[in-house]
Amino acid sequence: MMQQTTVVVQQPPAYSPIDTHGYMIINPVPLFGENSMTVVCGNCGRQGPTKIVPENGVCAHLCAFMLAFIFLPCACVPLCSGSCKDYSHYCSACNAKLGTYKRL
Ligand SMILES: [Zn+2]
Repeated sequence: MMQQTTVVVQQPPAYSPIDTHGYMIINPVPLFGENSMTVVCGNCGRQGPTKIVPENGVCAHLCAFMLAFIFLPCACVPLCSGSCKDYSHYCSACNAKLGTYKRL
């Protein structure tokens, strides 16, 4: 006895014939930096400044790894100072993660 499987094929979206020069228009993704930015939250729709949280990213760990070879006690400096950290941006209303500024 064979089981029937239902396959849902999604049709590609129909593009309007007025498409200019074949370019697709995509909503611009805001480029996050080290400082708080005013954005519209995609989760709650509120417009406001982002809450930034510094995190140790690839750059901080790479710097710490290289410093460990030069002078071991200095290895923790990139992990403790803010100069090598990545910055995660969160919505100040609903705490949804909106983006990350990465150094590497
Ligand atoms: Zn939000």
